[in-house]
Amino acid sequence: MQRKVLIVEDSKSSMNLMRKLISKAKLRPICTTSLVEAKHVFSSSAPEDYLCAVVDFDLPDAPNGEAIDFAIESFLPTIVVTGSLDESTRTTILNKNVVDYIPKENAQVYEYLTRLLNRLAKNKKIAVLVVDGSRISRHSMTALLRRHNFITFEATDAAQGMEILRSNSNIKLAIIDDNISGIEMISELRKLYSKEDLGIIGVSSDTTSGLSARFIKSGATDYLHTPFCHEEFFCRIMQNVERLENIATIRRVANLDYLTGLPNRRHFFDRVAANQKTTPHDQSLAIIDIDHFKAVNDTFGHDCGDYTLKELAKLVAEFFADFTAARFGGEEFCVFFSNVAPEKVIDIMENFRDAIENKVLTFEKQTLSCTVSIGVTHKSKGGINTMLRIADKHLYCAKTEGRNRVISD
Ligand code: GH3
Ligand code: MG
Ligand code: MG
Repeated sequence: MQRKVLIVEDSKSSMNLMRKLISKAKLRPICTTSLVEAKHVFSSSAPEDYLCAVVDFDLPDAPNGEAIDFAIESFLPTIVVTGSLDESTRTTILNKNVVDYIPKENAQVYEYLTRLLNRLAKNKKIAVLVVDGSRISRHSMTALLRRHNFITFEATDAAQGMEILRSNSNIKLAIIDDNISGIEMISELRKLYSKEDLGIIGVSSDTTSGLSARFIKSGATDYLHTPFCHEEFFCRIMQNVERLENIATIRRVANLDYLTGLPNRRHFFDRVAANQKTTPHDQSLAIIDIDHFKAVNDTFGHDCGDYTLKELAKLVAEFFADFTAARFGGEEFCVFFSNVAPEKVIDIMENFRDAIENKVLTFEKQTLSCTVSIGVTHKSKGGINTMLRIADKHLYCAKTEGRNRVISD
């Protein structure tokens, strides 16, 4: 279900802009123009349907941020928009438990609103661990994090923190205070979690010079000096979380084949290498090559060739979901099996070959079908490169013996 965003705003132009932005973010804007109307609309719907509220600081029936108080008391993560930028308004807003505030300076700031809405939706799946010996500061940090929809965990010392991390793989960020020997904990953590998998923000009230550098050199990705202002806290959190997401995107792009979305050759080798660390038995490798694929391009055009590759890749993904499969290049796919009996592998490959032969594809009202030749080896002694060479030799035989067949050791 589309989540709702409650807007309370009396300016028509601002309302129109926000309504569009919120719809673009695949959320449902619920537009109200006064505090009274907002209360009425909100009371007649389920509170859990709402992702957050976007509230104007200055409304005719709520001139001093009273609508903000209403939204916060209704447990809605609240973003404030304001036309006045003076220091006292800013302080008044920041003293309330708001997610953030957006000055109505120019259209650019609405971009920020889009980013914030996306963040609030994504944060619901991201967990943050706070390790701090002081109950008050631990609670104040987790309260701030929850305001931004994060899932939170608290630990009072390093051992408890480690235990929580071990059992909750959704933790992407750890905030670690120096009062629990934070630097030691961070260097221990880095033996288990890379900077690409876990962000760590070191926190300390100590003013000793060089402390921030010590934190970073021990493996922290950032440092915060306490007391900090809430705005800085959120900026640091946001930056750390976005850094991890960017790394995940780069990883995904680097590992997937652009046309078919299957893992690519590089990823295939990584996965096989990781698998071999577990000393598997019964290793097999299959190379699948489409027969006379050049003729598909020549007869139906290159776009149809691409379409055929994508459709066959879907079948590869479905058929070999429990194994390691990849697009190896051009019109070739590779599958690596471990802990599967050789006869079973041959059965699976025969079934796959048969499925392709019987698959009818339709592209721009033309129908076509194709066949594949498959080379399989179970000789794993010489490692993956030797397996590839042997399977390729079998594939060559499958081609010369008439195609549309499986040949193995
Ligand atoms: P064989 O049965 O001997 O394997 O014949 P073949 O035509 O399949 O083999 P060949 O190696 O001669 O040609 C492979 C063709 O695959 C040529 C190439 O243009 C096409 N191809 C490779 N990658 C892509 C792609 O990404 N898209 C399209 N449309 N064609 C591709
Ligand atoms: Mg080929
Ligand atoms: Mg081919």
